[in-house]
Formats: sequence, structure tokens, C-alpha cells
Amino acid sequence: MIRGGILITGTEVLTGIITDKNGPWLSEQMRASGIQPAQITVVGDRPEDLLAGLESMKAQGLDLIVTSGGLGPTADDLTAEVVGRFQQREMALDEALEERIAEILRSLSARWPNLDMESVRAANRKQAVIPTGSTVLEPVGTAPGLLVGPRDGDQGPLVLVLPGPPRELKPMWRTALATEPLSALVADAPAFERRMIRIFGIPESELAASLRSIEETGLDLSQLEVTTCLRRGEIEIATSFAPAGEGAYQALLEQIRERHGALIFSEDERTIDELVAGLLQGSTVAVAESCTGGLLCTRLTDLPGASDYVLGGVVSYSNAVKEAALGVPSGMLAEHGAVSEPVAVAMAEGVRSSLGSEMGVGITGIAGPGGGTDEKPVGLVWIAVLQDGKQLVRSVVIPGGRADIRDRSTTIALHLMRRLMLGESD
Ligand code: ATP
Ligand code: MG
Repeated sequence: MIRGGILITGTEVLTGIITDKNGPWLSEQMRASGIQPAQITVVGDRPEDLLAGLESMKAQGLDLIVTSGGLGPTADDLTAEVVGRFQQREMALDEALEERIAEILRSLSARWPNLDMESVRAANRKQAVIPTGSTVLEPVGTAPGLLVGPRDGDQGPLVLVLPGPPRELKPMWRTALATEPLSALVADAPAFERRMIRIFGIPESELAASLRSIEETGLDLSQLEVTTCLRRGEIEIATSFAPAGEGAYQALLEQIRERHGALIFSEDERTIDELVAGLLQGSTVAVAESCTGGLLCTRLTDLPGASDYVLGGVVSYSNAVKEAALGVPSGMLAEHGAVSEPVAVAMAEGVRSSLGSEMGVGITGIAGPGGGTDEKPVGLVWIAVLQDGKQLVRSVVIPGGRADIRDRSTTIALHLMRRLMLGESD
């Protein structure tokens, strides 16, 4: 088994100013290449912390360490130097590399005519000072990536040094995979499969109970690494295994289907958003949103090609807009309140007729934290989906804070849309 660690550098990531995008991405890529990710560690820009992170991963016997960030021209960009020290390699100027970086800078500088080229060049000379014996990955921005192994005869991990900006890191990871010595390491790794089962409509505890009872039937899960995760109101069961585990996985899938068949909505990587997008092809939808403030329309239009089927939406936050833009009768609002079954249906009908779509969706709820009553608590949401004279209308009481309630409402609406399009109706 080949195991890898990911060392994310940058005080801005450590302090939470920016969210780490590289760690999760690299972890997924490692797994896809047969390297088991063992940990993601975040350190600031202090060289001692970076070195300690490297040493700790080495002490655990990891085969590969991938670092992200700290390759730029400024004084706080120290990764190459620290990795050189870690692998006990001298730092030396690679003149050919310096010239290639200078060439990149000349073309960039055309856009900044007043730049002092001498100081730029001096700062970037630093980027061409690399540990001796490293393999250079050509810059995507201005910083080269590096593959730095232990000195000949020494034991220890291979270190892949990548720049921080994700649009530079991603292509460089792919280049690195095809480059010695990483390509040799990966060639020895068994390709791991990763499969995903997504379920909507049961609590995580029920799934945990199912998995226990599946094991009790005698099914050997030892070849599988099964992780379950509750995300946006759905349960994801991610399973990874070496090719020899395929039979065990199929047996597990059968058992889960037997217990939760109707609630499984995806057995490939497709998300509910993608499934709904697929079903909407050739049709049209319009949405009327109150408590979600446009989040459903955002999710629908996040996917490319949405213009084929999304006509638009109305964010009808106030009663006045529910009446004026969607034709919800004022008497209905007065009698039932804005968060009610008839209003959700009237919103869906109103947006469908005013925008001229085939499907109409209405969402109205109490996102909190204020505004709840005994009869209508915070988290109560009514969702109506209408199409071709058929409808699905549901109320739910969603736990959690305002953001959870708004987000979960959109997930539930997407599931109702899918079910209606698959033929289920009230
Ligand atoms: P540069 O030449 O741009 O300085 P660098 O390799 O030195 O590149 P950093 O200085 O660590 O990288 O980060 C530069 C920028 O890249 C950050 O300000 C941030 O916008 C982005 N970035 C860095 N690390 C991450 C990360 N882990 N996740 C998301 N974005 C990141
Ligand atoms: Mg930097």
C-alpha cells in the first residue's frame, strides 16, 4: 500500500481567511491514482512548522508528501528551501530555469509597462533556486513545481512541491503524475476503485444500523473501506477498494438495495442536481422562492446548459410580491399565512403561468431564527412542484440554523422535482 500526506502551507489558509481547496482535491486525486491519502495538514508560513510537518509525515513512513503553496517570489515563500533542507540537498541556481521564468515574465510585463524589470527579475531569480537533484515541473504561472526525492541511498518520502493557486496546482499535479520519479511510484500502486451510493430520506443512524446488520449476515467487508457522510440532507456512502474487492462491493450494494432500494437515487457519481438537469432536458421549469431567496434557482443554473430548461425564477420574499408577481390571492395569505400548503401551490402555479414553463416550483418557509410559533415552528417549509396536471406537495420541519434550513429546502425541492418527473405524484 502506497500512502501519501498532503501539506498545505499558507498563513491565510491556517487562519481561515481563505478555505483550503487544494487538500481535498489532492486527496481525491491521490486515491484515484492508487495512493492512499493518510492526512491533510495545514501549516502557516513559518519554516519551522513546515519542516516539522514534513518530519512528522516521514516518521509515519509515508511514501509521498505533496506540498501546496509558498513557491512565489516573495520572502514568505519558503517551501522549496525548506524541502531542500528536509531532503538534505543543497540549493543551487538553475540558470536555464531562470531564463525560462524570465521569458514568462517578459510576456507578462507587456501588460504592466511601468514595472521595474530588474527588481522583478531579482525576486524571480529566487524561484529558480532549487534543491540540487530535483526534477522541475514547468511553471503554469511563474513558479516551477518540483519533485524532490531523498538523497541516493537514503530512505524517506518523495516530496512533490506544488504552487498554491489551484489553477496552477491542478495541471501541475497531472504533469507530475507522468514524470519520474512519481510515475514510477504510482506504477506500483494498485488502482483503487471508488463507488458512491446516495440515499435521500433516512437518517444516518438508520443507515448505520443497516450496515451493522449487513455485517451480521456474514458479509465480509474487510476488503472495503466504507465511509458514510451526511451532506446537504443526503447520505453518501463512499466505498473504496482494490480490484479484488469488486465482488464484496457488489454484495454490499445488493444488501443496501434490498433494505433501502426506493430511497437510493444515485449509484454512480451523479448528484441530485445532475439527475434533475438530465430529467429536465426537453422541458422547462420556473421557480418561485420565498425563504430560499433564489438558492434553488442558483443551484439549477450552476450547471452548464441550464438555459435549455430553466426559464427563470421569482424571489417573492414579501406577501406583496407573492400577490403582485405571482397572483397569490390576498385572502389566501390572510387565511392560511404565507407559510402554508395553499400558498406554496399558488406560488408554483403563479410562476408557471407568468413565466410560461411546464414545471413550476414554489417554496415558502420559516428560516428563522425568529418568526416561529407553536403551530408553525422555525424550520417549517412547504414545497410544491407541479407539472402536467400532477403535483407533489410536502411540508417538512428542518432542524438546524438559518443556513441549513435554506440549503436543505433546496435539496428537498430537487428531490421532489425528480420524483414528480419519474412519475410519483400525490
Ligand atoms: P504565488 O506565486 O501566487 O505567491 P505560491 O505558490 O507562493 O504562489 P501561496 O503564496 O501560498 O502560493 O498562495 C497564493 C494564492 O493562491 C493564495 O493567496 C490563494 O489565493 C491561493 N491559494 C493558495 N493555497 C490555497 C489553497 N490551499 N486553497 C485555495 N487557494 C489557495
Ligand atoms: Mg506566495
